[in-house]
Amino acid sequence: MDTANPLLVSGLKMAGDGSEMRKNPTLICVPIMADSIDKMVADMAKAKASNADLVEIRLDSLKNFNPFEDLKVLIKECPLPTLFTYRPVWEGGMYDGDEKERLDVLQLAMELGADYIDVELKVAHEFIKSINGKKPEKIKVIVSSHNYQNTPSVEALGNLVAKIQSTGADIVKIATTAVDITDVARIFQITVHSQVPIIGLVMGERGLISRILCAKFGGYLTFGTLEPGVISAPGQPTIKDLFDLYNFRQLGPDTKVYGIIGKPVGHSKSPMLYNEAFKSAGFNGVFVHLLVDDLAKFLQTYSSIDFAGFSCTIPHKEAAVKCCDEVDPIAKSIGAVNCIVRSQSDGKLFGYNTDYIGAISAIEDGLRARYNISSITSSPLAGKLFVVIGAGGAGKALAYGAKQKGARVVVANRTYERARELADVVGGDALSLDDLACFHPEEGMVLANTTSIGMQPKIDETPIPKNALKYYSVVFDAVYTPKITRMLQEAEEAGATIVSGLEMFIGQAYEQYERFTGLPAPKEQFRRTMSKY
Ligand code: NAP
Repeated sequence: MDTANPLLVSGLKMAGDGSEMRKNPTLICVPIMADSIDKMVADMAKAKASNADLVEIRLDSLKNFNPFEDLKVLIKECPLPTLFTYRPVWEGGMYDGDEKERLDVLQLAMELGADYIDVELKVAHEFIKSINGKKPEKIKVIVSSHNYQNTPSVEALGNLVAKIQSTGADIVKIATTAVDITDVARIFQITVHSQVPIIGLVMGERGLISRILCAKFGGYLTFGTLEPGVISAPGQPTIKDLFDLYNFRQLGPDTKVYGIIGKPVGHSKSPMLYNEAFKSAGFNGVFVHLLVDDLAKFLQTYSSIDFAGFSCTIPHKEAAVKCCDEVDPIAKSIGAVNCIVRSQSDGKLFGYNTDYIGAISAIEDGLRARYNISSITSSPLAGKLFVVIGAGGAGKALAYGAKQKGARVVVANRTYERARELADVVGGDALSLDDLACFHPEEGMVLANTTSIGMQPKIDETPIPKNALKYYSVVFDAVYTPKITRMLQEAEEAGATIVSGLEMFIGQAYEQYERFTGLPAPKEQFRRTMSKY
């Protein structure tokens, strides 16, 4: 069977987006889901303008459908190669009519000049037999299987591929569901070893990497939507993100994978920051969101040197200390790792903490600005009373960092015992979160929130009442979505100098970028990128 991608080798209808520059043959297909032919035709033009390679026309989304007339219009008007899908309810689609009529429509699409048709495994054998001898040379039949519950074992997936192949399919499509991000590894394994063209995608947020990294592992196509949320299967990214965020055309077998590990993680701006920097430095890497439930299982599954580095956020920073082969002494004393780098020689994992550097230098800058201090040799934190809210990964980093700079540290936390524990480690005092409101032993203190209180979507929340903020000269919030949290806004109104979590984010990212790439961080570019969001 011909495994080459016909759109690229024969130049059927090239995308016109400088495809000759692409480093992978994986096609980008825009799903067209609309209830009228007019809207479908309009969306096809948008798909072309977005530099898609082809469109998947979901006939089951149409309200009124006159097959002979409408198929002719759709094929004639489409500026891109067409894939026709008429998905029945029993396979997760919207068509609930007669089966014979449905398959007749697919055959008609084929006869009228479709480039691809998609037929479900359950009916593929009969269908392919029925078109035997009538199939035009250019058309490719995709035989698909959808599993909306889970992702089977590698062995079961291998058997499924063989079963699909035995129907006479030109292209195998397997879409499964990610219960855990490690499920995707099995689809990568099947994709990379496939002897036939294969579309292997894993649905759901935990499956997102399957839709991006299929370009690295040799998948035949991926789906990119015209708009966020207008999807034909759960977890599809937009075509804009595939191009602009992930540099999809530039991914290849030797592209190194980096990512932000967290739960939740979809809000993180790290992929925007690193991917843009990778692109301008010509660095062959991609940075993705990694929604991880179990860190140890994730690191054991994705253990090849291709998965070269990770940023760690809530709730995995403490677990990361135990998962690394070696941990930097400062990260060890903080008890939190937010940066994991895999050695490219022996695959070992090294853990670092870059949070405390980013946060402390941003707070020092805030103090210098407030008190007009020009000296950069001594820390303006020395002698200050430094109140940290939170005792998790970021709390530990801030408390440890402030102590290093000579501040007197007080830790306030929802769970008092954790505050006490951290205070004991850094030689400070502990408070419960409830006691913070009436804690004001002196004026001009520094406050740092390191909990997620006030983070999107709960932007109306704050860890401290407004009237307690007047005792602080500088107030910092580790939360950076939104950039100005309710706490920061109220602190500014109370007369404090405020420092956004964005400053910490940029500072810690400089450090991580240099560890990931061995290149100096493009500091000005990081600032420009972050100012866009
Ligand atoms: P973490 O290790 O899970 O710690 C979370 C801390 O927040 C714990 O002290 C926890 O208290 C407290 N907390 C959580 N929800 C709370 C609530 N509803 N009420 C009161 N306290 C609550 O998380 P982390 O890694 O330290 O991250 C914390 C925050 O910092 C996140 O918003 C993260 O996005 C932000 N952050 C920002 C940057 C940046 O670059 N700007 C870097 C790192 C982190 P208990 O001990 O009682 O559970």
